[in-house]
Amino acid sequence: MKDENKIKELQARLTVEQKELKQTLEKLGDEENDDWYIKIREDDGFHADLNEEADDIEDAERDLAVMSTLEIRYRQVVNALERIDSGEYGICEVCGAEIEEERLDANPAAKTCIAHMAHEDDVDGYANIESDEE
Ligand SMILES: [Zn+2]
Repeated sequence: MKDENKIKELQARLTVEQKELKQTLEKLGDEENDDWYIKIREDDGFHADLNEEADDIEDAERDLAVMSTLEIRYRQVVNALERIDSGEYGICEVCGAEIEEERLDANPAAKTCIAHMAHEDDVDGYANIESDEE
């Protein structure tokens, strides 16, 4: 990827996405050294109603699932921004070739070319979504 303007555009998109992800993560959890932990709900330690307690656990589990998805994406975005800084952006981690522009347009945080999409080490389903595209 040698097109400076294109990289700037993707960098801007990544920066916006990073900000949004961080805001959402901060709402859901507590951050420590870029790691997020589910917020421990203030609790009086006593539940008169067992169903209420079950609801709390379900809420926490759902938040945790959402959070881990967001956290994976957040790390990808941060990683991509770091690679832009270090000049390694747009290079496939598997074969070392330049990543296609259309691939980066679809996912600015992509770490592999289209041919090696399946090797992307992240398991967040992005590769699957993208494989439907031309
Ligand atoms: Zn490749």
